[in-house]
Amino acid sequence: MKSLTKKSIFQILEEIPAVVVLYGDKIIYANLFACKLTGYSLKEFRKKHLWEFVNQKKREEIKQRIWDRIKSGILDRVEGVLKFITKEGRHIHLKYIAKRIKIEDEYFGLLLGVDISKEVNQEKRLRNFIKKLEKLLEYSSDVIMVIDENGFIKYESPSVERVLGYRQKERIGKSIFGYIHPNDIERVKKAVKKIFKNPGTTFTVEYRERDKTGKWRFMETVIYLPDGWKELEIEGAIFNERDNTKKKQIERSILELTYHDQLTGLPRQSWFLKQLKYYIFQTKEQGYVLVLVLNIADFERINFVYGISTGDSLLREIANRLKRLNVSISRLFGDNFALLVLIKDLGQADEIILHLRKLFSKPFRLKGDEVKLSFYAGASIYPIDGKSAEELLRKADIALFKAKELGEGSVLFYSSRVEKEVLEKKILKSSLFNAFEKKQFKVYYQPIIEIETEKVVGFEALLRWMHPDFGLLCPEKFISVAENSGFIFSLGEFVLDSAIASVKRLQKEFQRRFYIAINFSLKQFLDESLLDVINNYLHIHSFNSSDLILEITERTAMQEPEKTKQILRKIREKGIRIAIDDFGTAYSSLEYLIEFEVDKIKIDKKFVLPMLSNSKAMTIVKMTIGLCRALDIVSVAEGVETQEHLIKLKNLGCREAQGYYFSPPMELNSLIEFMKERIQNNG
Ligand code: C2E
Ligand code: CA
Ligand code: CA
Repeated sequence: MKSLTKKSIFQILEEIPAVVVLYGDKIIYANLFACKLTGYSLKEFRKKHLWEFVNQKKREEIKQRIWDRIKSGILDRVEGVLKFITKEGRHIHLKYIAKRIKIEDEYFGLLLGVDISKEVNQEKRLRNFIKKLEKLLEYSSDVIMVIDENGFIKYESPSVERVLGYRQKERIGKSIFGYIHPNDIERVKKAVKKIFKNPGTTFTVEYRERDKTGKWRFMETVIYLPDGWKELEIEGAIFNERDNTKKKQIERSILELTYHDQLTGLPRQSWFLKQLKYYIFQTKEQGYVLVLVLNIADFERINFVYGISTGDSLLREIANRLKRLNVSISRLFGDNFALLVLIKDLGQADEIILHLRKLFSKPFRLKGDEVKLSFYAGASIYPIDGKSAEELLRKADIALFKAKELGEGSVLFYSSRVEKEVLEKKILKSSLFNAFEKKQFKVYYQPIIEIETEKVVGFEALLRWMHPDFGLLCPEKFISVAENSGFIFSLGEFVLDSAIASVKRLQKEFQRRFYIAINFSLKQFLDESLLDVINNYLHIHSFNSSDLILEITERTAMQEPEKTKQILRKIREKGIRIAIDDFGTAYSSLEYLIEFEVDKIKIDKKFVLPMLSNSKAMTIVKMTIGLCRALDIVSVAEGVETQEHLIKLKNLGCREAQGYYFSPPMELNSLIEFMKERIQNNG
């Protein structure tokens, strides 16, 4: 694959129908769309910083957001809205994503933005309109009534005809409670009682009152009883009723506005919690409520590649598909959705998940492309996992966090074990950044033996973290955390640097060629600077490229087979060798394996360990070794713990072996001792 150059990037960006700005400490490039929208020419853009185009007061904040944080690597990506001032002095609301990208060894910010001014202005106009309406309502006339201690109507002002439709004298002598909504009567009775106990004070109560046509009106009423009312010959408390029905309706529609997400029409999180509370109330401890939170896999990338507006329409399509489930759906935020279902038995939860998977099985249309989407989901169940709405949502979120680690398409139910793991991961994540400075990482080495000669031919580098609280941590505990936080790259460089240096030292000391096998995770492998980084360390340590073996798992290789093929070719052109790790665990097609052109295949310990007693495992081991022999690929067995293992593997024609039978992974100093001893015994 050709590496990115500024020029090739500009060519791509020029065509995009959205604002695209590339910047370092200064703007380097703005595309045609950006120039047209803002009225500035590229030349004018280049004289300034992007943040110089926003209001003075906001400059520092925007600068920090879109550049300082990206430049320092604190964040890879930020998003938000900024108010851009055009050359004509107009304000444009830009919804943007800014991302850190690497071009020709330097980091830049790339901002992608769409103009959302129209939507923002619409919302403003709506708010103004509501304000005006409220003013108008204030001037509409109130109904004045006099109500005695028992609630009987003694007087009503003429406006009652206009407001409620009753003739002025129609209700005199009748009880006001006969007109009030049954659910509100108690409240009004209390207020009346209170006012007669405390003359001279006022109270405000809200209640629904039936009008002449039978409809309920929302009344906001101030009740007042003058001090010494009896002497003044007033027959009771004065009710100043104001019809608030319209205002209430508007309030409700405003509430709808904020409860509903404009983009998808789905309700938001606040509504979701309310609905969940209602469901909990409804089950009355008889059924269950399933809470399922959903995140779209790789949505960020889609947004970035296709632009925000395409991302938005995709969210709309997802929402429409989810609506087909006929359960309560809401959009919590971004690409996070939630489902709420009342279920009678737990089996129903599986049915819902099955439906959900079906909805995603058909591809989505994206600007003419058809794209398959997948998701992660976390679930919790009332009353098993929690009693309150907030708790259930939190726990579903925890399960979601873990599901993301398990990979696309994972659906996970909450359990206390999951929570413990997630918590641990969070602690690990926060201590990851310090761990480097504190030199808590170490590379261990495990010898790899050529079975035929029983000589050590190479080593596998295996990372360890000496954690101050958790003790010695194996990579399985923290590699995924490092991958998710982007920290894997620095960690990977550390392993490359240490491992190459160590093996170089061993080669010198023992005057023999050893290879070093280094593990690369998915993100590392797909990173565009992979080859540059490797070359750099080969160069620093004057290390022979053919003594380096890159291990990627079968699963990593199968993520993007076409891209993998290209990357592998480039790596092998450099003379670096490739091993496919954990072979047999991802069930990939043979066709790919042949196309991948690899040098080694590592048979996972999962098969080697039990092979002597488990015939299925044995079959896989046999088949893999046979396959390797046919394709002229070196087979390496992992997890060789006993002599019986070794003998069997030798008989099957396996070429190399690694495992506790020879040695566990160890620190460099112990490894040197180990090698001295082995070489003395001719191994
Ligand atoms: P892997 O590449 O499959 O590594 C082999 C694992 O098997 C190692 O676990 C090793 O300690 C263990 N092992 C070796 N011999 C035996 C044996 O005889 N019996 C048994 N039961 N186990 C044996 P470890 O060190 O915990 O590493 C786990 C995984 O973490 C590795 O699996 C590899 O995928 C990953 N990893 C390790 N170091 C790095 C690294 O520097 N970068 C990346 N990206 N991943 C790494
Ligand atoms: Ca490995
Ligand atoms: Ca393995």
